[in-house]
Amino acid sequence: MRITALAGGVGGARFLRGLLHGMATGLVPEADVTVIGNTGDDIWVHGLRVCPDLDTVMYTLGGGISEERGWGREAETFTAKDELAAYGVEPAWFGLGDRDIATHLVRTQSLNSGYALSDVTAALCARWQPGVTLLPMSDQRAETHVIVDDPSGACDDLGNPMQIAIHFQEWWIRWRASIPAHGFTVIGMEDARPAPGVLEAIESADLILFPPSNPIVSIGTILQVSGVREAIIRTAAPVIGVSPIIGGRPVHGMADACLQAVGIDTTAEAVARNYGSDLLDGWLVDTSDSDVVSKVESLGIQCVAVPLLMSDLDATAAMAARAIDLANLTRA
Ligand code: GDP
Ligand code: CA
Repeated sequence: MRITALAGGVGGARFLRGLLHGMATGLVPEADVTVIGNTGDDIWVHGLRVCPDLDTVMYTLGGGISEERGWGREAETFTAKDELAAYGVEPAWFGLGDRDIATHLVRTQSLNSGYALSDVTAALCARWQPGVTLLPMSDQRAETHVIVDDPSGACDDLGNPMQIAIHFQEWWIRWRASIPAHGFTVIGMEDARPAPGVLEAIESADLILFPPSNPIVSIGTILQVSGVREAIIRTAAPVIGVSPIIGGRPVHGMADACLQAVGIDTTAEAVARNYGSDLLDGWLVDTSDSDVVSKVESLGIQCVAVPLLMSDLDATAAMAARAIDLANLTRA
C-alpha cells in the first residue's frame, strides 16, 4: 500500500509518528509513506533558510524532536540566539536553537550552491531516517503572510487603520496570533510549482491522509500549490481527514485564530465543510463531537467519531488505524 499524507508541523508530525508506530506494532498494514510538507511557514532568519514544518516532521520521525516543545531539537540551548539579541539584531523573537542551527546551515549552504529544497530535504533526511519520503510542497519560495492592522497604529488619510502584510511567523510567534487577522496571502504562490514527486505521490497513492494539521495555514497552503488540489480531487484513492478541532477548540496552539480570520467556525464540522466533499471521502471526529457525525455525512463525507487525542504513541496509532478503517469503508 502507498499512503500519501499532507502535513504541517507538530500535529501532522505526531500523527505520522503514530501511523509508523501502528505499522511497527501490526495495528496498521505496512505501507510506503510519502509526506508532502508545508513550506508556507518557511523564513529567512539571520541569513539562514528555516523550514519549520519540514524540520518538525523530520526531527519527530527521526527521533530528534524536543518532546516538551513539540518543535526544535531535544536538549537544545539558545546561546547563538542570545548572542544575536545582544547585538540588537532582529528578529529576536524567533526561536533559533544551537543544535537546530546546524540543520539551517547545511540547508542554506546547499541552497546557495544551487540545490533545490527537495534535494536538500532528502539530504537532511539521510541523517534522520524518518521512515517516510519527505517532500516539500514546492521548491519555490511561497511564504504565508497575514493581513493585519499595522501594529504601529498607523492610519490612512481617512483615519482608518492601515493594513499591512506581515510574515506568518511574525504573527504566530512574535504576536502569538493576538492581532486580529483579516486574511492570509501566500506571497510567491502564483509561481510555485509542486516539487518533484508531489503530484506523482498523489496520483499513485492508495490512500491520501490529511492528519490533524492546521486546515488553513498548513494543509490549506499545500492545497494552493498549482495542481495539488486538482490531483487530489481526481484521484480514485480515498481521502481521509482527521479533525484538529475537538469540542470547538484546537487541541494545542492557536488554529482558531486562523479559522476566524477566514470566517470558518472552530468546529470539526465547519472544517470538514471547508475541505468539502470534492476533497474528502471520510472525516474522523473526536468521540466528544459525535453530534456532528450526521451533519458531516449530510455533506456527502463519511464520518466516524473515535478518540482523537494523541496522548501517546499507542493512542495515535489507534487513530491512524481508524483512518484506514474509514478508508476501507468508503471503498466498500
Ligand atoms: P504546526 O504547523 O506546528 O502548527 O502543526 P500542524 O499544522 O501540523 O498541526 C496543528 C494542529 O494540530 C492544531 O490545529 C491542533 O489542533 C492539532 N493537534 C495537536 N494535537 C492534537 C491532538 O492530540 N489531536 C488532534 N485531533 N489534533 C491535535
Ligand atoms: Ca506550521
